[in-house]
Amino acid sequence: MILIKNSQTFTALIKEEKAKKVKIGFVPTMGALHAGHLSLIKFARQKCELVVCSIFVNPIQFNVASDLANYPRPIENDIQLLVQEGCDILFHPEVDEIYVNGLVKDSSSNFGNLTHLLEGAIRPGHFDGVVTIVKKLFQLCEPDEVFFGQKDYQQCLVIETLIQRNFPNIVFNICPILREENGLAMSSRNIRLSAEERKISHHIYKVLKDLKDNWQTQHWEIALKNARHILSEAPFKLEYLCVCNAKTLDSIDNFEDNAIALVAVQLGNTRLIDNILL
Ligand code: AMP
Repeated sequence: MILIKNSQTFTALIKEEKAKKVKIGFVPTMGALHAGHLSLIKFARQKCELVVCSIFVNPIQFNVASDLANYPRPIENDIQLLVQEGCDILFHPEVDEIYVNGLVKDSSSNFGNLTHLLEGAIRPGHFDGVVTIVKKLFQLCEPDEVFFGQKDYQQCLVIETLIQRNFPNIVFNICPILREENGLAMSSRNIRLSAEERKISHHIYKVLKDLKDNWQTQHWEIALKNARHILSEAPFKLEYLCVCNAKTLDSIDNFEDNAIALVAVQLGNTRLIDNILL
């Protein structure tokens, strides 16, 4: 695997590969890699000849300074995992390599509800930060296909819209959520959970499964009420649990074909999100 930290070196190598008509698959991450991230690399490997991963902890998408400061950065371990997985290029720039003119968010595009509801409401400006970095990375990498995880479902809708508008030649792939044995969605933040929090973390997926199992029957509203109750009890603090239209994220209160349940909780000091298509 080639490790590149410099943007110009990165784009020069990409240009060389593109001249050879090599199909480039791109997996952007913030590192602290786990099996969920590596599954994206596997999907990219299946569809593309050159697999590029980026590791960049994007400061402008964090709302809470301590979350950014405490974000895990085990880069040596990440490099080893990517080598084992057969990744071809790792782009791992420093912050000032990407934000040459300072930490400025691009908020020029309007994504409507997709960036204002749910995560957008709880983390104002978060998606502007995500869109800014994703645009920059797409411009540098010029991928043919990109691979994102359903774990960040709202992010997927935003990126899909960005691609339709600004990068129509990129193929967008949404990949399934990888989970721990107890159902907890894998996340770089999970290492912050205490043993006790880890033990009860299975409730998050369990309530989503309950909703799915009761979808199409009148019992789903009871399941939703129960779920909200379970995830409101300490040490859980419920931020939202919503059943929404899977394309628009508008809240729904009746059975619909294309629906999704999305949840965000604080478990102790750790913020966790998850979702399930109903
Ligand atoms: P992050 O490093 O958290 O920004 O995530 C990088 C990519 O990995 C995003 O597209 C995430 O949606 C995806 N991802 C994170 N967790 C998982 C998971 N448990 N299963 C599959 N993909 C994931």
